[in-house]
Amino acid sequence: MNIVPNRDFALAEAATGEADVQGDTPNYEDVDFPALVRAILPERATEFDALLRQLGGVTFQVDDTAERIKFQADPIGVRVIVGIACLGRLFVHAHTDYTAFDFLLKLHHQGRTSADLAPEEREALREIDELLTWAVTMDVNTAVKMIRRSDQAPPPPESLVRLLDIDPESVSEHATRAVFENALTFIILHEITHLKNSDGACVGDRSIQQEKDADRGAAAWMLEDIEFDNTFMLRAFGIAVALTWLTTLDVYLGPNEGNTHPPAYDRLSQVIGQYACDDDDPACETTWAFIYSILIIHLRNRQILLSPDHLMGPFRERAECCINLIANQ
Ligand SMILES: [Zn+2]
Repeated sequence: MNIVPNRDFALAEAATGEADVQGDTPNYEDVDFPALVRAILPERATEFDALLRQLGGVTFQVDDTAERIKFQADPIGVRVIVGIACLGRLFVHAHTDYTAFDFLLKLHHQGRTSADLAPEEREALREIDELLTWAVTMDVNTAVKMIRRSDQAPPPPESLVRLLDIDPESVSEHATRAVFENALTFIILHEITHLKNSDGACVGDRSIQQEKDADRGAAAWMLEDIEFDNTFMLRAFGIAVALTWLTTLDVYLGPNEGNTHPPAYDRLSQVIGQYACDDDDPACETTWAFIYSILIIHLRNRQILLSPDHLMGPFRERAECCINLIANQ
């Protein structure tokens, strides 16, 4: 697997450079979000700037108090509010998702299994496991705390509670950084689409439709009218990381039955399904393989077992089997 980003944006470096080995939250306060979007979508930068002007100048406000996954559009203040704490976890997901997938591909191509790993490979996997465990633990715990205010929370799974230990030196791979930046771009464009559509706070069908439209709008910015090439795959991987991040909460806490957002697994299958739609194209197949590799790790961790049928066939079918298991657990 060799995903090569076509430009260099120093967002992840800015993030990891401020972290220390005690596990402080990375510092994203100086991130220039419009510059990120322009760097990721150079062919649409002019159009994006025109939209920001049309909206009257969007400001980005960081929220350094919220621990939960927080991204919010404020149509009255024409603002996008970004929770800083959760960005560190998004980065960990991008890193672990991509690194684990790349590792599995390498084993597959070499005809090896996890039974014959070199010691340094075991150590690399242990680090991935540790990072991912931390990120999921934080995601789940903060989501549960939020729910607890209305007394609906199931307790977090005990098996998730592990030590936080992020080494900033270990998360500097070029490709994983690019996947993170694409994931964040999708999320920012989702919020900008809310502003563009003048979406106000509401619940029920209207809110769910607004969310679907914001997903569709964000994905169109990134994937519409581009070839199934390296850029497509990088952007699709970013979207997959963003939406599997939310889907992970459904794996550990059960399907979300909130009345503001569609279930995350639905958002994942609809957005990716709309664009990674050519089953004969390697870029589409690889995108679905990436999603499958992410979901299967979490399903296995939750002891949700897959039948032999789930382990064969085109990756789109396998990923959709995983999504069905999450929806019906
Ligand atoms: Zn939204």
